[in-house]
Amino acid sequence: MGKDYYEILGVSRNATKDEIKRAYRRLAKKYHPDLNPDNREEAEEKFKEISEAYEVLMDDKKREIYDKYGEDGLKGRVFNEGGFTWNDFTHFSDLNDIFGGFGDFFRDFFGFSQPRENRGKDVAVRVTIDLKDVITGVDKEVKVKTYVTCPVCHGTGATPGSSVKTCPACGGTGQKRVVKRMGPLQFVSVTTCDVCHGTGKIIEKPCPECRGTGRVLGEKTYTVHIPPGIKEDDTLRIRGKGEIPEGKGVPGDLYIYVHINKPEGVWIDGLDIHKNISVAYPIAVLGGEINVELLNDTQKIKIPPGTQSGSTLTLKGMGLPPFGGGRRGNFILHVEIEVPKKLSKRGKELVRELAKELNVETKRGWFR
Ligand SMILES: [Zn+2]
Ligand SMILES: [Zn+2]
Repeated sequence: MGKDYYEILGVSRNATKDEIKRAYRRLAKKYHPDLNPDNREEAEEKFKEISEAYEVLMDDKKREIYDKYGEDGLKGRVFNEGGFTWNDFTHFSDLNDIFGGFGDFFRDFFGFSQPRENRGKDVAVRVTIDLKDVITGVDKEVKVKTYVTCPVCHGTGATPGSSVKTCPACGGTGQKRVVKRMGPLQFVSVTTCDVCHGTGKIIEKPCPECRGTGRVLGEKTYTVHIPPGIKEDDTLRIRGKGEIPEGKGVPGDLYIYVHINKPEGVWIDGLDIHKNISVAYPIAVLGGEINVELLNDTQKIKIPPGTQSGSTLTLKGMGLPPFGGGRRGNFILHVEIEVPKKLSKRGKELVRELAKELNVETKRGWFR
């Protein structure tokens, strides 16, 4: 019996064309591969299945054959022996209506105009850098677990010394070209050769190390330059340093996710670096200098007399640079006044004296 097209579209066996059209519209939107990035392959599969059902049920003749003989009845009669392919689909204009044009997805998906590139998967790694590296930029070594060229067959996929023939179906190009007409338009559709799966070769004895795929799981080390001005969770893409694909093709890309290690008590706001500093009470009152640890070094910072708790001191141009260069932000110090917890007898006396001088009302009990 094969596939149940009515069930696939969720319509009854005597559904009208309008009902079938509505059902297809709804499902086509649901299974649009661009809207299902997490399970794209599954969505593509499903999308093809509903399109096959639509192709058959919208055509009186095809539907009649299907109702009589089922899916198998269509093979060799309506479609070729292998069953439905996208070359059998005649409702591209409906898809055009639903999605408002032939987007990149459709171009890719149906292989119009350009061959679909056989490309390895992208690989992602996380790299941790220090906050001070954001100012200068830094080179980091990253280790990537990925597919690498098989060391035994050097990527050919064949046992060394055994014969490799050019694929007779595609003449070694790995591609199959189909010219397709859609109204006044003519598309050259290029798909992967299904005899050699795009490799362009027929291997007699597959390499035992990589089982004929030409690649094995391995590790690669790259030195990656992290430019100044990078931000937390920024991503760098390095072209061609991802996985190599099976057979002929180009490697994927390497994505570097950047994590920035910040010293304790430091926070970032845009290009500004913030840090709390504690200032002893007498220095806050009288003014003075304190040592403050910045990112790379320790600097002497002037505290003006009468500095208040919660006030800020701004070190202009000592913050982070913008990505791509430009004026650096500021380093902003937030003052916390340190109140002594333990005082000697003489210390307490002096504070009481000060209180009197400042007209602060005191009760003896407060100063035990
Ligand atoms: Zn091999
Ligand atoms: Zn081929």
